[in-house]
Amino acid sequence: MKISKRNIFTRIRKIVIYFIVVMTISQLSMIFVNSLQAEVFTATAYCSCKKCCDKDPSSRWYGITASGRKAMWGTVAVDRRVIGLGTRLRIEGFPDTIFRADDVGGAIKGKHIDLWFPSHRKALEFGRQKLVVELASG
Ligand SMILES: [Zn+2]
Repeated sequence: MKISKRNIFTRIRKIVIYFIVVMTISQLSMIFVNSLQAEVFTATAYCSCKKCCDKDPSSRWYGITASGRKAMWGTVAVDRRVIGLGTRLRIEGFPDTIFRADDVGGAIKGKHIDLWFPSHRKALEFGRQKLVVELASG
């Protein structure tokens, strides 16, 4: 089959248009994500244990978040449709910590954040709270 120059140009144009559409959509969703300034979220807590994450300590993914970073104090799990992964956050009651949205969870939906704690007992002590979450600037 002979592919004419015109055909190739049509194809390239289609690909370019596709990319423009995808970029526009992702830019718009960034604007939406960044529109979060300060809102009340349901805050819960988790740790790296099998109960919380269903990963065995022998697993190479144990304690590793959705973004690929190791879970640590300051790690929070979010619904990435509400807060983009990598977003830095301030959370009411923790003035000394800049949190980072690095993880996701099946039960974390909408205005819900899940704070990582180093032990299951500490996560249980935190329980469930309503806290103001805001974007950390800079
Ligand atoms: Zn746990």
